[in-house]
Parts: sequence; C-alpha cells; structure tokens
Amino acid sequence: MIARVIVDVKTLSTDKLYDYLVSKVHEEICQPGMRVTVPFGNRAVQGFVVEVLEKTEVPVEKLKPIQSFMDLAPVLSEELLQCAQWLSEETVSFLMDAHQVMLPAALKADYEKLLVRKSPLKELPLALQPLFEEREEIPYKELEQKGFGKGALAEIRKGHLSVRSVVKDRKTVKQERWVALTTEGRSFEKLLNPQATKQREVCAFLLSKGSVAVKDVYVATNTTSVVVRTLEKNGLVEFEMRSVARDPYKDREFARTTALSLTPPQQVAMDTIVESCQHGKPDTFLLHGVTGSGKTEVYLQTIDFCLQNGKEAIVLVPEISLTPQMVHRFKGRFGDRVAVLHSGLSKGEKYDEWRKIAEGEVDVVVGARSAIFAPFGKLGVIIIDEEHEATYKQEDSPRYHAREVAKWRAKYHGCPVVLGSATPSLESYARAVKGVYTLLEMPGRMNEREMPAVAVVDMRSELREGNRSMFSRQLLEAMEDRLDKKEQIVLFLNKRGYSSFLMCRDCGFVLQCDECDVSMTYHRASNEMKCHYCTRTAPVPAVCPECLSESIRYFGTGTQRVEEELTKLLPHARVIRMDVDTTSRKGSHEKLLDAFGAKKADILLGTQMIAKGLDFPDITLVGVLTADTMLHIPDFRASERTFQLLTQVSGRAGRHEKTGEVIVQTYTPDHYSIQLSKTQHYPTFFQTEMQYRRENSYSPYQNLVLIGVTSDTPDAGFDVMHKFASYLRKSLSEEAVVLGPTVPPIARLKNRYRYQCLIKYKREKGLHAVLKKGLLHFASKSKQISITIDVHPQMFM
Ligand code: ADP
Ligand code: ZN
Ligand code: ZN
Repeated sequence: MIARVIVDVKTLSTDKLYDYLVSKVHEEICQPGMRVTVPFGNRAVQGFVVEVLEKTEVPVEKLKPIQSFMDLAPVLSEELLQCAQWLSEETVSFLMDAHQVMLPAALKADYEKLLVRKSPLKELPLALQPLFEEREEIPYKELEQKGFGKGALAEIRKGHLSVRSVVKDRKTVKQERWVALTTEGRSFEKLLNPQATKQREVCAFLLSKGSVAVKDVYVATNTTSVVVRTLEKNGLVEFEMRSVARDPYKDREFARTTALSLTPPQQVAMDTIVESCQHGKPDTFLLHGVTGSGKTEVYLQTIDFCLQNGKEAIVLVPEISLTPQMVHRFKGRFGDRVAVLHSGLSKGEKYDEWRKIAEGEVDVVVGARSAIFAPFGKLGVIIIDEEHEATYKQEDSPRYHAREVAKWRAKYHGCPVVLGSATPSLESYARAVKGVYTLLEMPGRMNEREMPAVAVVDMRSELREGNRSMFSRQLLEAMEDRLDKKEQIVLFLNKRGYSSFLMCRDCGFVLQCDECDVSMTYHRASNEMKCHYCTRTAPVPAVCPECLSESIRYFGTGTQRVEEELTKLLPHARVIRMDVDTTSRKGSHEKLLDAFGAKKADILLGTQMIAKGLDFPDITLVGVLTADTMLHIPDFRASERTFQLLTQVSGRAGRHEKTGEVIVQTYTPDHYSIQLSKTQHYPTFFQTEMQYRRENSYSPYQNLVLIGVTSDTPDAGFDVMHKFASYLRKSLSEEAVVLGPTVPPIARLKNRYRYQCLIKYKREKGLHAVLKKGLLHFASKSKQISITIDVHPQMFM
C-alpha cells in the first residue's frame, strides 16, 4: 500500500505530494485525511495522507515507509480534502497551510488517543479481553507497547473499538480543591474541643453540604485556610482535586424560544430559501435588511427546517458580534444541538466543540470565520451574517474568504448560502443586481418602527465658534437630556486609541515605533507608549526628542481620554468603557454588557466592538465622536467601511418602543458616505460608490491581487518587487494592469521593509499558474526575502 502525503516543509519546491510506503501494521487503518510522521531528508516531519494507492511510478525500493500515525481515524473528510486542494490553488498558498487551517489548534498539538470498547467483551480477540475486562478505555500507546497495536487497529476497523482523543490542555483542565468530612470527621461534635468554634462551624457546614469547593467554604463560613488545614492534619476532613467544567455554556440555562409568526417579507425570504433547500440547489441569497428587520428570525426558521430534514447548518457571524446575546438566540432555539466556536475559547474548548461537530452530537455551529470548516457531512444551509465584514477574510496564509469557501461547500453538499447584511459589500450587491445571487429585500424594521433621526454635526464650525471639546454642543445637550430622562446613551469611537498619539506642538514631531513606521499610542493604565503592530513599548518622553520643547502632548481621542472628559463634563453620568483594554479578560465583555443591560450605567463608551449586536430597549441616543477616522485610511474601501459603520452604529438606537436619535460628528460633513448615512439609503450609496469604483477600476469592476515583498534591507526588497512586477507584465495579458512597485502606508513593519504591487484584471485565465511560478522563482532567490500573495485583498496597509 502506498500513501500520498503532503509534508509540513513549507518551501515552494516541497509543496506537492510525496509517496510513502504503508507498513503491513498500518494498512489496517491508513486512510486519507489522517496525519502521519514521515522521514523527510534526514529528519521526521508531519504530513497529511491525501490519497491511498495500490501502486506508484516511483520504484518501490526508493520509497520510505511512514513512521507513525498521529491519528487513528481521519481528521479531514473526503470533502474537506478536496476543499483544501481547491483552497490552495485559489489562494495561491501552501497545500499544508490549506489543510492545517481546517483543524482546531489543539489538534496541531499533542493529544492522547484512547481506545474505547464498543462491542461485548467476547467479540474482542482473546488477547485483548483481559485488558478490556478491567477498563472501558485504554490508551493506544499502552496497547502498542504491550504488542497489541496491530490487533487493536484491526478492531477499530471492525467497529469493536472506537477512538477517543483527549487533548491535554493545561490552561483549561482547571483543577479546583474540594473538601469533605472523613468518616471520622462525621463525629466532630465528640472529637473537637468545644472552644474550637471555627473548626466546628466548618465541620457543621460540611456535614450539611457534603463535598464543597474549598474557596466556597471560606466564603460561607468566613474562615481562612489555617482552619481547614488544621482539620485536615487531624484527619477530620480530606481534600480532593476536581476539574472544572470546560464547556463554557454548560451550566447556563437558556430560556427556550419558539418560532415567531413571520411577517410577509420574512415569509417570502424564508420560502425562497427553503425552496432551494428542498431541491438541493446551491443558490446564493443576499438577504438585505436593516438592523432589526428580522433577519435572524429568518435564519433561525430556515435552520429549523433543515434540522427537521436531518440536515446541518453553519452560521458565521463576525468575531466581535459573537456576543452572548447572539449566542443566546441560537442556544435558546436549538439548545444542546448548537456548538459555538469563537476566539475566546481555549484550545481544548475549541477542540471539544469541533469533536461534537465531527461526531454528530450537534447539528448547528455558530462561529467566527474558521467555523466555515466545521466537519459536518450533511450540510443543509450556510448562513453568513454581516457578510460585508472584513473579518471574513483571513489575513495570513491561506488568505481565504469565508464567503468563497461557503459557496464551494454549498456546491458540494447541494445546499444554499444565505448572505445577510444591512449594508452588503459592493461585490455581493453587484452580483445580486446582476442576478448571480438572488436578492431578498426586507425593508423596514419589525413593527414598522421608525429608523432613528440622524444629525451630522460639522466639527470645524464648532472649533471656529470656540468649542475645543471633543463633544459638540448638540451632542452634549442631547446627553444631558437623556441623563435627565434616565435613558441610555452609546458613544462610539473608531478604533482603540487610534489617534491618541504623542505629538510635539512646536515642531510636529510624532513618536513612532522604531521597527514599524506607525505612530505609537499612549496607554494610560501602564503610562507608556505602545506599538499596536509589534507590541513594542517605550517610555513617555518628557520633552520632544527633536526640539527639546516641553509642549509634547497626546493628541486625539482614545477611549480613555473620552472617559476622562465625560467625567469632567457630566460628573453624575455612570460610564462603562468597552475597548480592547477593558475586555481582554475572558468573560469581561459579557459582564460589561450585562451591567449596561441592567442599567448600571448611563453611557456605554466603546470602539467598534459595540457597533453591532447590542439590543437594549433604553438606548435612545447614539453619538459617533469621529466619523472621519475611517474615511481617511488609504484604502479604496474607506467610504464603504464608513457608510457601513455609521449605518450599523445608528441601528443601535431606538430598537424598541422609544424613538432614537443619532448624532454624527465629523470634519468632512459633505462626503457622500457621511451624508448618506442620514437616510441610510443603501441603493443610493451603492450607485454613488459604484461610479467611483468604475472610474478607478476597482473591485467589483476589476479583480485585484496584491503582492507584497518584505526584506531586511530596503534595496533587496525593492529589487525583487521590481523584477516580480516586470515578470507579471510580461506574463499576463494586455488587459491586466500591474501597478507598482509602491511603498505601502506602513513602510516598515517589525523592522522589515515592505513593497507592494497590485494587479487589476477582469478575466485572466492562467493567473494562478503565473503567480505560483513567479513565487517559486523569486522566493528561492534569497533567504531574507519573503513574498506574500493576496488574491482579492481586503487590507492595503
Ligand atoms: P436583524 O437580525 O435583522 O437585526 P432580528 O431578527 O434581530 O433582526 O429582529 C429584530 C427584533 O424583532 C428582535 O427582537 C426579534 O425578536 C423581533 N422579531 C423578529 N421577527 C419577528 C416576528 N416575525 N414577529 C415579532 N417579532 C419579531
Ligand atoms: Zn518638537
Ligand atoms: Zn512596532
């Protein structure tokens, strides 16, 4: 038996399949989709078996055998293996990367394999019976050492034994010390001195409760460890370590919800999608509806239909909107049938969720981008909410877009894809207009609730009229009004500390990172400067390093500064600040939102993480402090992102009985993306923006590929980029345009010099082959050069 293997040696010349011999022992289990260790050169590397053959052209004596199997059952299905192949071609990335991205991180680390008995003992071979008589599960390693490896593998094949993997996850198999009375301890009344009141109290408590976590004992009886330890020394109590549950939602109760009766537009949308489900058609739908128009209810009922037909569903939501509120809605409707995958989970937790999916214990997964690879075998629908979000594009190799993977999988399974958004990406809406996607419109909010009134405030005239504060008079008045009425306010600021850089007022010097050409940001908590790209820190200079002036100040408005100013202007307002700094600890995001929901604060102040998913009845005012920060990033999607963001933020106001108001502060009030956010009329925005895209030959009129080169020295990088660009000009058709080399907005990152060039094309048949060949050629030129290829890029920094 021969196995074709992808090896984990990431050079372009090794990015292909290698043939290995499968030893007789392993023939029993060897299947495509398993990971193995194979000899490569003079070392051992990891690999994926992608194909199993009877013979090969390579002479057998030249073949080396597979050393060992990391898995006893495939971790990638036939479908995902094919998908990986496609993904690697589509994104011009290593086969190994394309395979690895589909697996949870824990599987890349070590894990233990246990064999579990599935059949009556007497059906096992005699040699194995005594072992399994004593235990239900035995580590494979142990069986192998005792010489039963081969026999056990044969039993897996027959289905008498199954494999269970246990991920060693130090971080999450959290242990907790519990304490209980010993048999002797039960007679503590007689044994303890009457004066030992504390000890008696603890024992009485344990007698009534049984086994209790030590920390709970301290709280309940108001004692310290000394007392408990004395009891242990005297043999009255004993300790025991217990592991804390790993499922983050395990002990949570989710109130069950049932299907609402749909409004006519919801019904139309649902019927159209379900029709494709019934006929197994891989159609793509664009569900266009403002926030609060009832899209989620349509998702829920479509999924319900699929589940009733024995099918499964994937729901993607952007990481930041994977809020507890969103999770509640799915868990509330489908309970234990839902797995949740997001970056807040530890490796082990992610693995647990992944395993539940692979083993069919759940039928719905709600997760961020990588959940698109959920190992389901009977997909009935794939839903991508907020489909326009840039987070659906992965920014490292393989640089895939979840939407494209969704369409590939949908085709494989014969099921529809539903893209939902209030502000679709220009690409998707253009396809819907052309009829490639089916457009489903859901105009208006539930119960005809009015959209909030949006006012645009010109901050330049505020300044002219002597208001130097970061709040316009209109916003400040509105805030005072809401505080009086005891209604809630959301204040939105683009990006964490985006503009709280340090600048000299005399000479204009801005403190930059030594290794990346970006300004460093000031962090109050640690009183230091930080680079958000490489995490390097520096002390805050007291005088300007350039001109020695003392007028060196922080500029702009980080969330911390806004909070300070709020405290000054509205001393009675209770403020909750939500940004990367206050939400880095696990669960803190949820706690802050719960507190705001429980009206423990008047103002929720935050970065984009508060732009979506929030649904609280008492929010009647939304303030956007700096609408421009996004408009001026050097990216052709800047207007699109600004419009999307403003629309989304506005959607937070007045979702319930009370009407909402939105105040947008800006220095460029006349820009169309800001003007149009007043009416939030998407089709008008679409038309205006499409004109700009056509004039400048941007997506969706033209396709783009971004090529980046980084190097240790400026010359080497420029030289390679220059040659690469010439090669592309020669190899591509007349219609393709190659721009560059240019220096990107961030010219240096982690002390590497950066160059880019951009290909614009409409149709270019051999493009991927040309790119791969170029990559092979130029990457092998020099070790210090690294080249990236980004097909349909989302980021241009
Ligand atoms: P979206 O996902 O478009 O933002 P949601 O599905 O969250 O909209 O709906 C907004 C609100 O309206 C939610 O509180 C939801 O429970 C409610 N809702 C949705 N559909 C219906 C319906 N058919 N009847 C009554 N209420 C509904
Ligand atoms: Zn200076
Ligand atoms: Zn840096």
